[in-house]
Amino acid sequence: MSTRRSATVAARAGIAQDPAYGAVTPPMYLTSTYELPAFKQPGKYDYSRSNNPTRDLLGDALCQLEGGAKALVTNTGMSACVLALQVLTPDDTLVIPHDCYGGSYRLFTNLANKKRAFKLVIVNFQQDNWAELISAASPKLIWLETPSNPLLQITDVRAVCDLAKTLQALVLVDNTFLSPALQNPIALGADLVLHSTTKYLNGHSDIVGGALIVKDAALGDELKWWANCLGVTAGAFDSHLTLRGIRTLLPRIKAHQENAALVVDYLQQQPLAGKIYYPGLKDHPGHAIAKAQQHGFGAMISFDLAADAKYLGVFFEALECFTLAQSLGGIESLICHPGTMTHASMDAAAQKTAGIGPTLIRLSVGIEDPRDLLADLEQAFAAVAAAIRADGGNAAAGHDTAPSEVKPAPVQNEQHFRLNPALAAFW
Ligand SMILES: *Cc1c(COP(=O)(O)O)cnc(C)c1O
Repeated sequence: MSTRRSATVAARAGIAQDPAYGAVTPPMYLTSTYELPAFKQPGKYDYSRSNNPTRDLLGDALCQLEGGAKALVTNTGMSACVLALQVLTPDDTLVIPHDCYGGSYRLFTNLANKKRAFKLVIVNFQQDNWAELISAASPKLIWLETPSNPLLQITDVRAVCDLAKTLQALVLVDNTFLSPALQNPIALGADLVLHSTTKYLNGHSDIVGGALIVKDAALGDELKWWANCLGVTAGAFDSHLTLRGIRTLLPRIKAHQENAALVVDYLQQQPLAGKIYYPGLKDHPGHAIAKAQQHGFGAMISFDLAADAKYLGVFFEALECFTLAQSLGGIESLICHPGTMTHASMDAAAQKTAGIGPTLIRLSVGIEDPRDLLADLEQAFAAVAAAIRADGGNAAAGHDTAPSEVKPAPVQNEQHFRLNPALAAFW
C-alpha cells in the first residue's frame, strides 16, 4: 500500500474494505457503542469516542498521504492544536511563528498567559536571526505554518528540523494551506503534521474537522490516549464526508492551482491591485524554498487593494463569484479581509507586527471556470475605480503603501481586461 502514489491512495481511501458485505464505498458507522462478543471479551471497537471504523478509515488515509505512523482525527482543526499541545508541560517552551493562523495564535497566547500551560516564544521566521532565537529558547516544540496565513510567507522546514534535532525539539507543521498533495512535512524532517481538514482535505466547505499525523508510533499512541481522554475525536458523519472529499483531493488541487496562477497573472496587470503575496512569483522572498519543498504553489493569494481602505466595501459588494467568507480550500472561491475576519482575534499591534495591513485581501481560489473568476474580479475593480472617480480622486490615490509599489495609473480610467496568453487554453 505504502508504495502507491498519493492520487491512488486518495482516490481509493476506504474503498472496498467493508468486512460485513463487501460494500465498495464504506458504510458510515453511526453508533456510539459496540456489543461485546462475549462476557469479559472486548471486541475491536467498544465506544466511538475511543475508536470508530469510519474515523479509522480516514485516519489510515491521512497517515498514508502524510507518511506518518499514526493519525488522530479530531472534530476541528483547533482541537487538533489542543491535542498537539499535550506534549507540553508548564516547564516546556513552545515556539510559534508571529504570523500563524489567528485562532492558533489566540489559543497559544491565552493558554500561556492565562493558564501558564507552557512558556511561549514568538519568533519571526523571516528574520535572519530565527535560528539564534530558537536556540536561546531551547523549546520542546516548534510550531510552523508554511505558507503562512495570510501573507504566504515561506519557512524552510528542513532547516528548522535540522536545528530542532540538535536541540532535541519536536517540530510540528500546520500543513492546512497546501494539503498533503503539495507538501509532505514528515519527509522534510517534521515530527507532527496538523491539518484543519475543514479546508482542502474535505474540500467542500460542509464540515469542520482536524487531524494530527505523527511520525513516531510511540508518540502517536500517547496522543491517541490524550485524544480519547480529552474527547476531541471526530464524529462518524464528518469523517465519512471528509473521506469522500479526500478521494478527489489531487484533481481538485490541480484545478485550484491552475486557476490561482491565472488570477495572479490578472492581478499583476491590474493597477488597483497593489502588492501581491504568492509564493509562485519569482520575486516572492520564499520562492526558491517553496519551489524546493512544495510540489506546487497552492491556490491561496493575498494582495493589497491599491486604494483607500474605505473602498474595500465597494470591492467586496461588487463580487459575485468570490463569496465574502472566512475559511478556504473549498471548491468555491472565497474572499476575505484578514484584518477584520480571520485575524480579528489578533490585536492591532500584533496585526501590524505580522504585516497585515488595512487593505490586505485574501483569496481562496476555487475551481470555477477561470473566465468567470477573472471577469468577476475585473468588474469589481471597475466598481472601485468608478467610486474613486465619483469621489473626485485618481484611481491610485489614497494608496497607503510605498509609492514604488504603486503601479502606473491606467492610461484610461476604464479598465478593459486584455487576453492573457496563459489563458489561451481556456478560451
Ligand atoms: C482553519 C485553520 C485552523 C483551524 O481549524 P478549524 O477547523 O477552523 O478549527 C488551523 N490552522 C490553519 C492554518 C487554518 O487555516
